[in-house]
Amino acid sequence: MSKVIPIPKSGKPEKEILLGEKAGFCMGVKNAVEQAKKEVEKQSITYCLGELTHNPEVMKNLEEKGLRVIEDLSQIPNPKGKKVIFRAHGVTKQVYEEAKKLGLEIVDLTCPNVLAIHKIAEQAVKEEKDIFLIGEKKHPETIGTASFCGKNHFVIETQEDLQQETQQYLAQVEKNANSRKLVILSQTTFHLEKFKEFENQIQEKLANKVEIEVRNTICKATRLRQEETMDLAKQVEYMIIIGGRKSSNTNKLFQIALQNCAHAVMIENEKELSEELLQEMKKYQKIGVMAGASTPDESIQNVINKIRK
Ligand code: SF4
Repeated sequence: MSKVIPIPKSGKPEKEILLGEKAGFCMGVKNAVEQAKKEVEKQSITYCLGELTHNPEVMKNLEEKGLRVIEDLSQIPNPKGKKVIFRAHGVTKQVYEEAKKLGLEIVDLTCPNVLAIHKIAEQAVKEEKDIFLIGEKKHPETIGTASFCGKNHFVIETQEDLQQETQQYLAQVEKNANSRKLVILSQTTFHLEKFKEFENQIQEKLANKVEIEVRNTICKATRLRQEETMDLAKQVEYMIIIGGRKSSNTNKLFQIALQNCAHAVMIENEKELSEELLQEMKKYQKIGVMAGASTPDESIQNVINKIRK
């Protein structure tokens, strides 16, 4: 249920902002940011492998307190005993091994939902099952999860991948007479509708050849935000999605807003609400606001205050 915020205006009818109930931080990002803050308070120089969240404001704040973002563990000078944070997306199996070898102290803030997928993948490999991982190939979470999926896994992001990988897999199945088992997994922030569409196509192509187990591992936070964005976008005339441009889940919310509302815009913060955009908004009575899982409450509030003013 979205929260209705009236916009004070002389004359009628009154305009409204409808703010999504699920807008903003998910449990995984909230925990990662809180824990990272505690770590930099304890020991000012703390390394983080990759950006902790895709929100520039949150990152700026943490970096001012002493967080150092690195792209590779080799960038840590004299690593023994130094602390390194693994962010909510998780890392590859090889990175865990390398960090241990270097003597780093790992602060593992990988979201429990992502860790659960790593476990499902490891179990599938133990049981000699093949894996189809549905997700964005270049996303760090998918790269991390793929490293737990053993040798016989296929990553599917697009319709073309789906055609190509199922064909390649079918060729393998036909060569190997032993009965094969396949597990379908997903990146936690993948597009829900697209996952279902891919799953149906895989079932159609492979269900009579292999035993298929579907584990829809899109997390609850993603599902609820996508569903609420869709509902909200249908009720309003203009949708604003707030979040970092590099955030996978924010980009999905924006796609959903565009598909379900005639006018939609994605902004990182209130500074991007230009005079032109504000003028454009004046034409509409109902404005919907939704924010990605890495957007802090403060950013959402700043956007709403600017529109109300
Ligand atoms: S989006 Fe989902 S999986 Fe990712 S950090 Fe948030 S709760 Fe965890």
